Amino acid sequence: MTAPFTLSDWTTKAAALTPDGRGLIDGQRVDALSGEVFASHSPMDGRQLAQIARMGDADVERAVQAARRSFDSGVWADRPPAERKRVLQNFALLIEQHGEELSLLETLDMGKMISDSVDIDLPAVVDCVSWFAESIDKVYDEVAPTAKDVVALVTREALGVVAAVVPWNFPMLMAMWKVAPALATGNSVVLKPAEQSSLTALRLADLALAAGLPPGVFNVVTGMGPEVGRALGLHMDVDGLFFTGSTRVGRIFSEHAAQSNLKKVGLELGGKSPNLILSSCHDVAHAARVSAEAAFFNQGEMCTCPSRLIVERSVRDEVVETLKAVAAEFIPGNPLDPNTTMGALVDETHAARVMGFVDTAHQDGARVIAGGERKSPVAGGSYVAPTIFDDVTNDMRIAQEEIFGPMLSVITVDDVSEAVRVANDTVYGLASAVWTDDLSVAHQVSKQIRAGLVYVNCYDCDDMTTPFGGFKQSGSGRDKSLHALDKYTELKTTWIQLSPGRAG
Ligand code: NAP
Ligand code: MG
Repeated sequence: MTAPFTLSDWTTKAAALTPDGRGLIDGQRVDALSGEVFASHSPMDGRQLAQIARMGDADVERAVQAARRSFDSGVWADRPPAERKRVLQNFALLIEQHGEELSLLETLDMGKMISDSVDIDLPAVVDCVSWFAESIDKVYDEVAPTAKDVVALVTREALGVVAAVVPWNFPMLMAMWKVAPALATGNSVVLKPAEQSSLTALRLADLALAAGLPPGVFNVVTGMGPEVGRALGLHMDVDGLFFTGSTRVGRIFSEHAAQSNLKKVGLELGGKSPNLILSSCHDVAHAARVSAEAAFFNQGEMCTCPSRLIVERSVRDEVVETLKAVAAEFIPGNPLDPNTTMGALVDETHAARVMGFVDTAHQDGARVIAGGERKSPVAGGSYVAPTIFDDVTNDMRIAQEEIFGPMLSVITVDDVSEAVRVANDTVYGLASAVWTDDLSVAHQVSKQIRAGLVYVNCYDCDDMTTPFGGFKQSGSGRDKSLHALDKYTELKTTWIQLSPGRAG
């Protein structure tokens, strides 16, 4: 809970931080070999937070070699699972103990509210690391049901050197969704954080070392996507590349794999999630409230953002009235103020891109019924008001392109079959929702929607026990749950022929 600290407390704590922007390779904080740096600014007020090492091909080479050496030596991969578990449990404990610093860095770096960093992101990160730590001495291999004279063992083995490339919307959590299962299964990792949010990734790697992870097992290379990301994607000695980010960049990594060593690629990509409020839903106001809260959560910088609200005509007026009322409760403010209800967007470039969709909406014939403007609660910051578009048709750009900001489109339909058709008329397939009190409709619609996640009468339910990922151009492979372990392991089949008659 953030309750004990006020805006003034957090402001003082923020001023006292001196983040270290050097990368972490082979257990050491290091500058880029070129000596180059870039400035990291806070979208809260534009202040400079740190100089971050701008790494390149040579630094990636060093990091991959360190990861390879540590993997081949067996210093981590060959430890008994129970020992890996203990180190990762220590890691989770250290994250919890450094929660205040990590939450503050996350907020300063990418603009989300401190209350969310403390109450949502940090506990989710601790839970993720401890969940995968706990899992790893409880997952058994298999003996296949073969003929009597042979034994066939089916075992999981670590991939080897794993690269993870992640975005800025949940910097710590997106990193740990990949790094935790990769480490738990014995891999050595090279993490590339988003250019806008390197600071918590670096601190997490410091803490992993302090928890007892051997040097070289978890490296962080900072820098630009087309430089560091590209070098990892094309590297001949990276065995797997696991990416969370846009569909555009996901496609690039698939190409990199094809152009290099056909490394295994896992993609958690964008979304344009349909959210169906049907006339068979009894509490329409509740459905609309939860929907708007989900759309504006984290400034709408959510891959699962329910950005297409598809509503049956008979209930649309009530839905729209509630959406507007909820939008008015999301007031962009200083992210360090525990009373703020909405934070800053990640940077000026992104805020300008998001605002461009207001013009697009006008050009395509939609109507802005809330927001549609910049805000400036703190000078120098990147704030956008929660925005609702009405009279949207599914062919408009605001209904097809991922905005990744606090913008929601209302699409009115005449019946359930039209709602499902519109829901599926997208290249994406990440999340979706349906609001209904008719059990048959709930089952039928959730089967018909082509998406990796379907929420019935809720949104953004979450638990480490469930897989997360998309259909179609929202990606391949799953984060979270035991299914995530499939990404970071290869299956090996070992046949053992038994000599006849030995045991009589
Ligand atoms: P992004 O532009 O795709 O960047 C993601 C990562 O890829 C960053 O580390 C970025 O580095 C790197 N990158 C960018 N261009 C690259 C290139 N040409 N080659 C190699 N690497 C490159 O995405 P973003 O703007 O950070 O995040 C928003 C996107 O992430 C949205 O599309 C959202 O839906 C998606 N997302 C998906 C999920 C999911 O689980 N499905 C979760 C969260 C977010 P730089 O920062 O240095 O450019
Ligand atoms: Mg930043």
